[in-house]
This record gives sequence, structure tokens and C-alpha cells, in this order.
Amino acid sequence: MRNTIEILGVKIDRVTAAYALKRAEHLVRTPGVSMIFTPNPEIVMAAYEDPEFRDILNSADMCTPDGIGVVYAAKMLGTPVPERVAGFDLTCGLLESLRKTGEGVFLFGAKPGVAETAADKLREKYFGLNVCGVHNGYFTDDENDEIIRQINESGAKLLLVCLGAPKQEKWIYANREKLTSVNLCMGVGGALDVFAGVAKRAPEIFIKMNLEWFYRFVTNPSRLGRFAALPKFMRTVRKDAKKR
Ligand code: UDP
Repeated sequence: MRNTIEILGVKIDRVTAAYALKRAEHLVRTPGVSMIFTPNPEIVMAAYEDPEFRDILNSADMCTPDGIGVVYAAKMLGTPVPERVAGFDLTCGLLESLRKTGEGVFLFGAKPGVAETAADKLREKYFGLNVCGVHNGYFTDDENDEIIRQINESGAKLLLVCLGAPKQEKWIYANREKLTSVNLCMGVGGALDVFAGVAKRAPEIFIKMNLEWFYRFVTNPSRLGRFAALPKFMRTVRKDAKKR
């Protein structure tokens, strides 16, 4: 039984990082395609304005509270979640687990060449990890069937889809029934860029102090528009709560 709360109509699981990992480990070993999404405030806002996207998020097997804004919003609504569960950290935990069991992971997304570099780095970081296929995230509709064929042929149990939101969630939802070997799909945005070393994650201290967003802004001021969306998110959550 899931324990969820709703933020702007999006169901978020009240999970700790440890429980989320346990659940992901269970899903990756359970036949039939499961979906895990990791909504941050931007994603929740986008879903509020796009009912199709909201329904896709709500059809997931788990949505973890990624982003401190989601944690604050949950608290403001009087339905707190235990902690932030970043998609990136959950992915790392799951890869460590797959390393031990030998189940394969397919890396799908990012610019040409990035997934290959990420695969090399991941094999070093998680010694013995079975990265059984990669594909970049820039493709035409005509190429979609070939990508599915490659994923199926790889025998991967875990599919990391890194196309940015909402493209990755919509792709997973639309294609999940064509996947024959995969048990778990996760939409994890820029994770391959970080694994490949193309983008950096904030130093641990920023993450611990819930200031990852600030680090990202300082190191990449072009993201200003994305952070400006945060106060709007909190205002919208407050207004929406009054309506209900
Ligand atoms: N991307 C992709 N195909 C697209 C658009 C984006 O593969 O058509 C990739 C992009 O190269 C990047 C990732 O999706 O690796 C999205 O990164 P971003 O930092 O925007 O994601 P976030 O984690 O912030 O959602």
C-alpha cells in the first residue's frame, strides 16, 4: 500500500531515501514494466498546467519528492514527507545494487557520445556493473522503433531515460508496453550528463544544507528563469490548497 500526498494534483510518495531504494530494488526484479518518476517543483508546476502529464505522473509506481521545494510544499500543506529523495541519489543506490546482481542497465538520453562516456565512468565507479546498451536522446519519431528494438535486445532490466521533463515521462508512458525485458523505467533528467562529467553535481555540503539549487544557479546563471519559478510554485500550492 502506497502512502502518498498530493501537491497540485500530483501524487508524491512519503518515502525515505532508504525505503525508496528498497522499493526500486523490488520493482527492478519484478516482471512487468514499472515506472518511477522524481518530480521537482518545475515538474509539478508543469503537470498542474498539463493534465495529460499529471495523469502520467499519477500512473507511476512511485514518485519521489525530488527538490527541496517539494519538501517545503508538503510541509506547508500539513502533510510532510520524511526527506528529499533526489532521483540522482536513488539511481546511484540502484546501480550499486545491480552491480552486485549483474542485472543490466540501458542508458537512454543526452547528447550523442554522453551516454557512452557515462557507461565507461559507471563501469569504473560500480565495478562489475552490466551497462548493456546506450542510445542518445536526440532522435526522430521514425527512429523510435529501432531504439525500442535495441533496448529489448540488450536484455536490460533497468532503463534510465534522460530526455528532460516532460519528454522522458511521456516517452516512458507511451512506450512501456513495447518493452519486453525491462522491469523498471526511471526518468532521471540530467543524470547521464553528471555521470559522464559533462555537468557537475553540487558539493556534498550544499546538498546537505538543501542548497543544491543555489549552487546550480551560481555555477550556471542561465538557469535563473528556472529558479524564479520556485516562488510561483509555492504561491500556487498555497492558493490551490485554499480552493480544496
Ligand atoms: N535531452 C535529450 N533529448 C532531448 C532534450 C533533452 O536527451 O530532446 C537531454 C539533455 O541533453 C540533458 C537532459 O535531457 O542531458 C535534460 O537535462 P536537464 O538538466 O534539463 O534535466 P533536469 O534534470 O533538469 O530535468
